[in-house]
Amino acid sequence: MIVWPSAGVDVKANQTGHAGSAHDAASELGTIDLPAAAGPRVAVIFLQPRCNMHCTFCITEDNFSAMTFEQGAALLGALKAGGTVRSVVLGGGEPFDWPHDVMALGRYGRSLGLLMQVGTNGVALPEGFESADAFDRYVLPLESVEPGPHNAMRLYRRRHHAIIMDRLDALRRVGKSVTISTVITRHNVEHVAAVGEFLRRYVRLGGNVHAWHLYQFLPIGRGGSENELDLAIPETLYLAACTEAEALGLPFRIYRRGDMYHSRTVEFFWIERGRVRWGSEAWRSTLVTVGGESLGT
Ligand code: SF4
Repeated sequence: MIVWPSAGVDVKANQTGHAGSAHDAASELGTIDLPAAAGPRVAVIFLQPRCNMHCTFCITEDNFSAMTFEQGAALLGALKAGGTVRSVVLGGGEPFDWPHDVMALGRYGRSLGLLMQVGTNGVALPEGFESADAFDRYVLPLESVEPGPHNAMRLYRRRHHAIIMDRLDALRRVGKSVTISTVITRHNVEHVAAVGEFLRRYVRLGGNVHAWHLYQFLPIGRGGSENELDLAIPETLYLAACTEAEALGLPFRIYRRGDMYHSRTVEFFWIERGRVRWGSEAWRSTLVTVGGESLGT
């Protein structure tokens, strides 16, 4: 069982202008009852559904609420108190489009001893993000080494690919850990191995790649459901692309994510109608989605 911290956690010092505390938020949100045996190692927190991009395959839904800063801090405290979670990924929507200070929340999580990651599209990262003490790891997307297929899937002024390359370069220069996520669709299934070779070179040049996640396109959410005809591929093609990537012998782990929402070690948390919800309780065997691709195992 995870219960909210019994003592107040004052987060005011972490974010100017936010009254209240994690303890106040804890009493609003109630108790999370997770069986200890199923305690997750990694927690993904969907801070909000809003995003500053429109990806064609986006599986995020608009059916949950933005957390307040205090709710996010209270949830981190509760996860820490639960004892099994070692690593937290702040995700969304887009965490850097959240109306609160995501860097302060990252620092707060680190102050609790959690390994803090942020799953971001990279567009709105602040200057100096690569050296900031808020996050141990960034989780960034890369759909293709070529700008064309990537930008056709990740819609942002036709220059999202260039933004990601800049972000990766900045992280490489300081040796900051990064996990790469690639969503495999009809548009990039032939490009997956090239992404792997790019990442191999990135590591040779000093880049610190922790893992590479290969997501199967799912025809759900605010993008995926309407673009199924354009993006979907047979599962056999997805699996073949994963096998080809694994055969490259890359110096980091590759994770197949055919169904990101059901994992023995990863749990998902969000706020819905003022209450904390979590994936294994809300979804059970059905595939009802809320947030986007931001696993950071
Ligand atoms: S996939 Fe991620 S970056 Fe793209 S629109 Fe959805 S939430 Fe935003």
